[in-house]
Amino acid sequence: MKGMSIRPILTVPNPALKQISKPVDSVTDEIRTLMDDMLETMYAAPGIGLAAVQVGVPINVIVMDLAKSDDEPAPQYFVNPEILEIVEEMKPYEEGCLSIPDVYDEIDRAERVKLKYLDYDGNEVIEWAEDLYAVCIQHEMDHLKGILFIDYLSRLKRTRAVKKVQKTEKLKAAE
Ligand code: ZN
Repeated sequence: MKGMSIRPILTVPNPALKQISKPVDSVTDEIRTLMDDMLETMYAAPGIGLAAVQVGVPINVIVMDLAKSDDEPAPQYFVNPEILEIVEEMKPYEEGCLSIPDVYDEIDRAERVKLKYLDYDGNEVIEWAEDLYAVCIQHEMDHLKGILFIDYLSRLKRTRAVKKVQKTEKLKAAE
């Protein structure tokens, strides 16, 4: 765990968040260092999921930790995640995003998805995700396609969300 560093998280309306991320060739030490940094950055924020593009690296890498605050940390790493199957039963869930701080809204997502990805050691994993895990991985995988959760909201709500973030960032910069 040594040598991890916190990287700045990009916030809306930074156009870099709209980039399409690229697949990773293999899980190298360089990728593992990025994942370590992403996890540290996510814990510090704090948040439960982070895509590499949110720290300005447009590649198909995601970290997550869905453990409750009282429980032991349970980091999860996803390289080149794919959704193999979707159970088309939609459920609303209130989402937030580290790139859109302090904005929350209900989004409909599939309740269950079958995933394929490479883990921290480069091993292929195929498994079903449900509930919060399913919601979070769909949110994070959207980032890899340049999609933010506010893109599912009305134009009015989206504009309001971006303005709110810009205002907060300006206040922070002036401190
Ligand atoms: Zn997000």
